[in-house]
Amino acid sequence: MRPRHLLIGNWKMNLGPKEARPFARELKAKACATSRTDVWVTPPTASLEAVASELSGTPIAVGAQNVHWANAGAFTGETSPLFLADLGVKFSLVGHSERRTLFGETSEQVAQRTKNALSAGLTAVVCIGETEAERTSQQTEAVLLEQLTPVLDVVDANSAVRVIVAYEPVWAIGTGKVASLQEIQDAHRFIISTWNSRKLSRPAVVLYGGSVNPGNFSEILRLPEVDGALVGGASIKIDQWLSLISIAEETPVGQ
Ligand code: PEP
Repeated sequence: MRPRHLLIGNWKMNLGPKEARPFARELKAKACATSRTDVWVTPPTASLEAVASELSGTPIAVGAQNVHWANAGAFTGETSPLFLADLGVKFSLVGHSERRTLFGETSEQVAQRTKNALSAGLTAVVCIGETEAERTSQQTEAVLLEQLTPVLDVVDANSAVRVIVAYEPVWAIGTGKVASLQEIQDAHRFIISTWNSRKLSRPAVVLYGGSVNPGNFSEILRLPEVDGALVGGASIKIDQWLSLISIAEETPVGQ
């Protein structure tokens, strides 16, 4: 359980530098004075510099959507965690389902990306989740374990404080189908007990992601196993994003 809610906006391949800068300026004006919510955003790579410079000196953390397992070399199209750190980037998503399904990233590669992000001092937000077919065939826990185990194998007592898990059922991402409260609670409990079996230095931090919007967020965030949310579509519409932040601000932590 985290002492504050955590809301992360995944902008995906939206908001290029020209749109990202005014968006970040509006966030700076309206979302900095939160009392119980940390607000983080992940612009696309091309907008990182603009957003990081706009939000520099504010409590809003800027993250990348992916990070490479090497620090430099012949890896066309990839981004070193050292370069991200130079830009003022504080964290990176790893293993988002779009990376796994559209770009073929394996759980082993996700673990290597996580390991190198942690070595560079970044926080890693590790995304895991089952497809609809895997849920229907009762494979949810097996899939979560297969995706989480290689990551936990590269986390140690020092780096555990910089690992966050995002449970994102693939069938709920960008579809408008949100998981039921029971499904979220069961998956989060499973992730927490898997994390606890490793005797790491701090408790698991687990976010929910998948079609979160201002209409469903409050009841999700009230689940005691939910530390916050990873949000796609609703994070690039400023009104919805500000509403989600207000809902988090109204929700006591640990409810
Ligand atoms: C995501 O991209 O991680 C996500 C959860 O998207 P959406 O909120 O649009 O379902």
